[in-house]
Amino acid sequence: MTTLAFLGLGAMGDPMAAHVTRHARQGGHRALVWNRTASRAHAHAHAYGSEVASLEQAAQADVIFTCLPTSAQVDEVLTVMEAHLKAGAVWVDCTSGHPQAAAAQGQRLAARGVTLLDAPVSGGTGGAQAGTLTVMVGGPADALEAVRPHLAFAGKVVHVGQGGAGFAVKAVNNALLGAALWATGEGLAVLARAGVDLHAALDVINASSGRSNASQNLIGQRVLTREFPATFALGLLAKDAGIAADLTGSVQGSAPLLAQTAALLRAAEHLIGADEDHTAALKLIEQMNRTELH
Ligand code: NDP
Repeated sequence: MTTLAFLGLGAMGDPMAAHVTRHARQGGHRALVWNRTASRAHAHAHAYGSEVASLEQAAQADVIFTCLPTSAQVDEVLTVMEAHLKAGAVWVDCTSGHPQAAAAQGQRLAARGVTLLDAPVSGGTGGAQAGTLTVMVGGPADALEAVRPHLAFAGKVVHVGQGGAGFAVKAVNNALLGAALWATGEGLAVLARAGVDLHAALDVINASSGRSNASQNLIGQRVLTREFPATFALGLLAKDAGIAADLTGSVQGSAPLLAQTAALLRAAEHLIGADEDHTAALKLIEQMNRTELH
């Protein structure tokens, strides 16, 4: 029997852990859950049949999943769990983390005989609920093959390279999301000031070469409706774009557009609010243009 532990039952982790628990129960495995706010872990156990565990108990699992805001929180739980870990285990970090943190954490875990896979996900809370997330994995290929059957929340799993590569790909992906979102917001603000109907403009853009996930889904569903449902925090997107900027520096790359995206999202985080939905970044563009996107 394999013991699976899932740490961090937030907007993403809660539905991901539900898939892991269902898979574990079907396969005769154990599914443990831990969350900083314990009531969420108890609610999960009640809803899905997982077992609430302490960090020390979760450290004894064969496969440990984490889905926390940043690598800093992963460091915190790792510090508590380190002495209790089981040699031979695999730690699958689904946080959108930092490649440099993956290197340091991988070394700490290796000293305990545990393998780290950085395995961030894409697909949003909808993808987490549907179990169709894309997972980009860095780390040893044999460790990925060992845990692949347990990635019950995934629709697509791609091994992208050595440790840290998963976090690097995720950071660039989200910097691209931020760039497209911001640029489309700017374009629509200009069109609004020109008196163009934005629903008609989006209709055209979505049938033309300027389209993106931002234009096809996010702006129509979240911005023009003025709903801005908080499923993915602006502070987390700013964090991801910042990681992409850090990555650029660490490889001595030149990516000024991505750097500017990181700076703009950081400004939006400060002025609009870290906990707002990421699409609320466009409220800053609205202020810059004295217009509303509706
Ligand atoms: P949430 O804010 O919804 O959840 C965060 C989780 O981390 C909660 O379980 C929270 O516990 C826990 N946590 C926060 N601080 C600490 C701490 N100091 N120690 C221990 N646990 C802590 O975040 P998401 O689920 O949205 O995001 C998780 C990760 O997934 C992030 O890296 C994000 O970038 C990434 N991601 C998010 C997507 C989305 O659409 N939301 C999509 C793809 C990736 P508590 O309940 O106690 O607050």
